[in-house]
Amino acid sequence: MILLLTAGLWLTGSCDFETTEIEEPMPENHKKDFAIALHGGAGVISRDIDPEVRDNYLSSLEEALTLGRDLLADGGSSLDAVEAVIRHMEDDDRFNAGRGAVFTSEEKHELDASIMSGFDLNAGAVTGVRTVKNPISLARKVMEESQHVMFAGDGAEQFADETNIERVANSYFSTERRREQLQQARDQAAVMLDHSGDSGLKGKRDRYSTVGVAALDRDGNLAAGTSTGGMTNKKPGRVGDSPVIAAGTYADNNSCAVSATGHGEKFIRNVVAYQICAIMEYQGLSLAEAARSVIHEKLDKGDGGIVAVDKQGNVTLEFSTAGMFRGAADSDGLFEVAIWD
Ligand code: ASP
Repeated sequence: MILLLTAGLWLTGSCDFETTEIEEPMPENHKKDFAIALHGGAGVISRDIDPEVRDNYLSSLEEALTLGRDLLADGGSSLDAVEAVIRHMEDDDRFNAGRGAVFTSEEKHELDASIMSGFDLNAGAVTGVRTVKNPISLARKVMEESQHVMFAGDGAEQFADETNIERVANSYFSTERRREQLQQARDQAAVMLDHSGDSGLKGKRDRYSTVGVAALDRDGNLAAGTSTGGMTNKKPGRVGDSPVIAAGTYADNNSCAVSATGHGEKFIRNVVAYQICAIMEYQGLSLAEAARSVIHEKLDKGDGGIVAVDKQGNVTLEFSTAGMFRGAADSDGLFEVAIWD
């Protein structure tokens, strides 16, 4: 907040005035008009990467963040911002969501997504979809045009047809970089979070992970969403935390909006996204304190991270992995993207 201070100075018998700008600290309960936080996944992201690859990472995070920030600045709803930014990332084949999703152990793609409105606790999710181009948009249709919260597999795809959501061949999601990753996972007989045990980033391969967004709009409504291809080499039918409301995604106007990324099984067992909001609401902790206690005390080191926005527009980006692709912007001029600490 800028305060204009006018001081009168007596100089050699004449009166001059000087105007100085000073920074006044924001009051603690200052509410931002809007705020947005996003992630492109967490994992063992090597610091030893080609500078060109690093710059590509940062500029594509900036691109997604600009899209969401501008939408909210223009008065768009938090739900629209969450859907638009996630769609954008689903269409970018470097993210593990939509095109570019990881492979299952059977060399197919099974996608998960969820979205939640903090205004009315309405939520929509899809899991195990194989032919839906933008799973986040189908999740929103589930929320707004069905009486249910989650659809799986064939039923979800049938619902996509009923609601005019675009479908594509499963091979549309396939990319060479994910095929290499499947091979690495098979060689190690592992189900892998992106970049885990991965030395590939030292080369020219740019590869992000799961995507998620949390946002507060000018009407004071919070929303969150998450979209993923899951973990590399996962068994067919495996469901992670991303489509599970309360684990991977949660939003409540009384507390906060959260999107998670990491080892889905751990996030489901610890009800991570909801637990952060509940700690805020019932224990009166700040968003940052609540997120820190869940990520560092309930989960184990290396499990993953979250991005979150509270009802005041405070943003928290917390992770226990070596890195998390992330960004945050708000109406006070914050605009930051980062990978490591
Ligand atoms: N949480 C996702 C899952 O377990 C993976 C990720 O965030 O990268 O499916």
